[in-house]
Amino acid sequence: MNYSDAERISALFDSFGFQKTENEKEADIVCVIACSVRQHAVDRIYGKVKGWNETKKHRQLRTVLSGCVLEGDRKKFEKIFDFIFEVKDISKLTKYIEDMSLRAERSNLKRSPQVSDSYDDKIEGYGDYLNIHPKYQSPIRAYVPISTGCDNFCTYCAVPYTRGREKSRPIEEIIAEIRDLVKKGCKEITLLGQNVNSYGNDYSSNNREKSDSPQPAFSNNNKFIELIKIIDQIPGKYRVYFYSNHPKDISDELITVLPTLKHFPHYLHLPLQSGNDEILKEMNRHYTQEKYLGLVKKIRQALPDVLLTTDIIVGFPGESKEQFWDTLKVVKKARFEMIFLAQFSPRPGTKAAKMVDDVSKAEKKNRETLVNETLTKIVLENNEKLIGTTQEILVDEAKKDKLYGRTKGYKVVEIKKSPTVKIGDFINVKIESATAWKLFGKIELL
Ligand code: SF4
Repeated sequence: MNYSDAERISALFDSFGFQKTENEKEADIVCVIACSVRQHAVDRIYGKVKGWNETKKHRQLRTVLSGCVLEGDRKKFEKIFDFIFEVKDISKLTKYIEDMSLRAERSNLKRSPQVSDSYDDKIEGYGDYLNIHPKYQSPIRAYVPISTGCDNFCTYCAVPYTRGREKSRPIEEIIAEIRDLVKKGCKEITLLGQNVNSYGNDYSSNNREKSDSPQPAFSNNNKFIELIKIIDQIPGKYRVYFYSNHPKDISDELITVLPTLKHFPHYLHLPLQSGNDEILKEMNRHYTQEKYLGLVKKIRQALPDVLLTTDIIVGFPGESKEQFWDTLKVVKKARFEMIFLAQFSPRPGTKAAKMVDDVSKAEKKNRETLVNETLTKIVLENNEKLIGTTQEILVDEAKKDKLYGRTKGYKVVEIKKSPTVKIGDFINVKIESATAWKLFGKIELL
């Protein structure tokens, strides 16, 4: 989501004639999109801004901060950054750039042709950054936010405090963006939202408030299902993924619809967080181990070739060794392909930050290692089963004499470079060997 925010902020800078530089030393302005999900990312910002403030002693440099920033950090950052804005208030950044008279300072400022004069009006009018046309960083891969914010208040999570309550983007706007992307040759689209399954729940309740006539009673997934069905009708050769799901919100209807879609690979990210019922309750996750595994079973029945990935937090306050074994048990049963693994770190202002963080750093590390070892074993077994099969890959990288691509299940495949294959091509590859984190193959059909 931060990557996607950066693409929109980048578009705004472009509209003022700025150019992106990969070299920090050349920059007139540095804009940081913060992430508060883990303390480590916040600490890195403190480290970087120190250096930039040193640079300011020798030359002009502006520092701007946006993204997910917790209230406590915000107060400290206000003292060390020139300007802080919330991404949903992006019009403030426009004003900041104008107020600084940076336009006047730069002699060759010219609005980029793709950004019209009504750009500011649009930003002001909507007050909605999601409607800004982003500066996509890749011609073949794009992130499309369908909602932002979250209403779930998992006790460890900073998102509802930094991004606010869930707000869905109008369906027509999303479809228009995707149509445009496909038309321009984009091959892989990822729909983004903190909880994509509840897409449109706020939208439908707004409609109900605004209208006197009875509105259809949307269950949790209905608007999301409507959205993905419409996307699937857009003609072209492309894949669509979506992140992130919440196990409590995946309906039977969604599971029934997924196998009928042409453009949605059989791939689901299903955040587990913990496999223990008491810890799940403390996390405010609204499911149990049994329910989670029941969901996995249903998904596998509907999509036998589905690839599942997950998020896990180890060392949540009060997590005993026995409770951690429950998590490991689910990892073994669900046979995930990838786990985004985090050691618990308290996020100030959340409920979990008031709990006693009583699992030692060493024990958290130990639990992380155990999950990783278990995962590596499972993934290697899964990958070895792919040897001899033909996989369709989307070629996305070229290095020396090698090409790399992703299977529908997002596994990296390495092949020899071929003059007839370019980045953005879909090709069939026969898998010849495998490690836990990479497949190796040979082009089969062109
Ligand atoms: S559903 Fe996800 S984003 Fe929302 S509070 Fe829980 S962990 Fe955070």
